[in-house]
Amino acid sequence: MATYIMTGGATGIGAEIRKRLVNAGHTLAVIDIKDADYCVDLSDRKATAEAIETIAKQYPHIDGIITCAGVASHFPDKRKLLEINYLGSVDIINGLVGNMSQGGRIITVSSNSAPQCTSPALISALLDNDWQAIDGILDSLSGHDCYSGSKQAIAKWMRRQTPGLARRGININAVAPGYIETPLTQAVAQDERYGEAIKKFVASIPVGRPGLPEDIANAVDFLLSEQSSFISGSVLFIDGGHDAMFRPDHI
Ligand code: NAD
Repeated sequence: MATYIMTGGATGIGAEIRKRLVNAGHTLAVIDIKDADYCVDLSDRKATAEAIETIAKQYPHIDGIITCAGVASHFPDKRKLLEINYLGSVDIINGLVGNMSQGGRIITVSSNSAPQCTSPALISALLDNDWQAIDGILDSLSGHDCYSGSKQAIAKWMRRQTPGLARRGININAVAPGYIETPLTQAVAQDERYGEAIKKFVASIPVGRPGLPEDIANAVDFLLSEQSSFISGSVLFIDGGHDAMFRPDHI
């Protein structure tokens, strides 16, 4: 049996991943703002650092890390959105990867909206950890730019870590969900700014249905398994064909 650390196990996609890992008999530590082994607000750098220190001591050998916690475009505080979605993954992985060894697996949760960010400056600033630059442009950015930017930056950060980690026997990959029915998307669908657009968006999914948390958990199961041992640095779109529909020539 393996030992996994995950963020965002309280609801939605993360709750499905959590259920499967627990049912399979693995040891699992969940970090979340609610209903977790470690109740932490991932926008709080100090609380996150303290949790990492405690977890690192408590779990000297970790087989896998899954960073799933996130908030959506409509989240009222754009800086916190970036901190939860981007730093909430980077800090957890950086802080715990030292407890991983050969055969380890790391999965970050990006999004198929990652390519939609219109601010290369935001992506650069996130990757450079330049929060002064971020604060300078934040007012000019939409919530969607911040959300998609956080998801593009985490995918790029993941790829920058890939070779070094792979040489240590640790594979890191990202899943990029499309529209998945969870509390997060329900909240956006109920937001009057986005509701109508969401309905049309869901109707346009090529496979003809919205995604379910199980669709993402299936991929996570595979990426955690021995069968994925040659997969490293991939961004796996799980979106019913939506990205291919919008960006057919991009690979
Ligand atoms: P969700 O709202 O059900 O789950 C998000 C989880 O993050 C919850 O457990 C929540 O408590 C936790 N969380 C929120 N703020 C936090 C904070 N400040 N500190 C710690 N934990 C916090 O949403 P979901 O749809 O299951 O989303 C899971 C991940 O998948 C997110 O990263 C999201 O961006 C990503 N994603 C979702 C979709 C989708 O369509 N649902 C699409 C693409 C990507």
